[in-house]
Amino acid sequence: MSIETAVGLDPSDLGGGQPYPYQRTELVEPDWRRFPGWRDVTDAEWASAQWQRAHCVKNLRQLRELFGDLVDERFYADLERDQAERATMSMLVPPQMMNTMVPTTPIGAAGSLTEALYADPVRRYMLPVFSDRRTDWPSHPHATRDSLHEHDMWAAEGLTHRYPTKVLAELLPTCPQYCGHCTRMDLVGNSTPQIEKLKFDLKPVDRLDAMLDYLRRTPQVRDVVVSGGDVANMPIARLEDFLTRLLEIDNIRDIRLATKALMGLPQHWLQDDVRAGIGRVATLARSRGVSLAIHTHVNHANSVTPLVAQATAAMFEAGVRDVRNQGVILNGVNADPHVLLDLCFRLLDGAQIMPYYFYMCDLIPFSEHWRVSVADAQRLQHQIMGYLPGFATPRIVCDVPFVGKRWVHQVSSYDTERGISYWTKNYRTSIEADDAEALSRVYEYYDPIHTLPEAGQEWWRRHGSLDETSLKAAEMAEASRRTAALQAH
Ligand code: SF4
Repeated sequence: MSIETAVGLDPSDLGGGQPYPYQRTELVEPDWRRFPGWRDVTDAEWASAQWQRAHCVKNLRQLRELFGDLVDERFYADLERDQAERATMSMLVPPQMMNTMVPTTPIGAAGSLTEALYADPVRRYMLPVFSDRRTDWPSHPHATRDSLHEHDMWAAEGLTHRYPTKVLAELLPTCPQYCGHCTRMDLVGNSTPQIEKLKFDLKPVDRLDAMLDYLRRTPQVRDVVVSGGDVANMPIARLEDFLTRLLEIDNIRDIRLATKALMGLPQHWLQDDVRAGIGRVATLARSRGVSLAIHTHVNHANSVTPLVAQATAAMFEAGVRDVRNQGVILNGVNADPHVLLDLCFRLLDGAQIMPYYFYMCDLIPFSEHWRVSVADAQRLQHQIMGYLPGFATPRIVCDVPFVGKRWVHQVSSYDTERGISYWTKNYRTSIEADDAEALSRVYEYYDPIHTLPEAGQEWWRRHGSLDETSLKAAEMAEASRRTAALQAH
């Protein structure tokens, strides 16, 4: 199903409901006291990062205590089944995020929140239920745990060197919130019945030392994404120590701190010790001409509340140069041009957060109901152009395994029948130094099978259960046949 069909847009209308009706919207913090479980929670408790962390929703019992009978049993059973049979991430939702679900639904009789909760965009990715997932193809045949092969490119444990001048440092494997679609589901969070999580071997202190050692002896790296997990889960004194040592390395010119918690737990970034720690790091960065930025992860406008704006303002006051958003395009959450524009304007106007990227959801297990095709991603990119300032118009990117981020219009060729797009790269990664064909080879990305025309779906029904090697051979044979047919034509 294409984006237009999914959201009821007319495909002949290139704008998808033209024009988008921009309207400045005041940010609102929904009243958490509307939920039975938080009826007596005070403003001071809500503002406390400790209270937020201690009252995260981690299991069904806690969700029942929060909603009581406002949600039907069938929802709880649906969620329980998903946790047992599908979930790749364990449940962890801070109160701040829970409070952005069903923000305007009137509280009424028993069961009155059920349908709104099922339809809620934040719920759909933070608390996925079994009935959300596809039953025909719950996972793509090429879905894998570490779909970006980051571990294959570790230069030190947790340090992915995938681009010539940039690295990703995974400091820790936890977050204050766990997103159902997490790309790093292989490593991040607690094990689920479906996924036994990988564990780091080294002790944290040794792991961070090994990362810094590598960066000291690799002067071609100038840019470090300091991530996880989420850096909000690292005690600020330890984060400050790591960043201070990183800033001693002359070649490092850009540091980006990755934290979804700026939205999911803004109370963390509003704490005095955190503001002071980031302030010292930002001052040091500025004195050395290094750009220190925060990258966050917001997928829907409902998540942008006054507390998120306050936390962002606190980071600007501390001296952070920019705060940028990297969201994920998710069907049922935001795969719609108006929803994306609402989010971008809410970020930009309400919180001074720069819309930067939207990633296509990666090829991880049980993600087919969230993923969109490359063709739909291209349409979305087209439809959101021209409304935001150029510098704040997000690029929609496909993170192609073994290649890296590519704008969705950079596809080299595209078999739309079988949903296989082919991509090329212009540099070697750390594991391809001796690979003569690295720059001439094409790399595949796969559309969700249910979005394909019937002939393509039939092809996958015939070949989808082959082992990886046989499946790749069948794909190559089909690609050769199509090329020959095109040349004959
Ligand atoms: S915050 Fe990021 S790393 Fe953590 S679970 Fe969500 S997507 Fe994964």
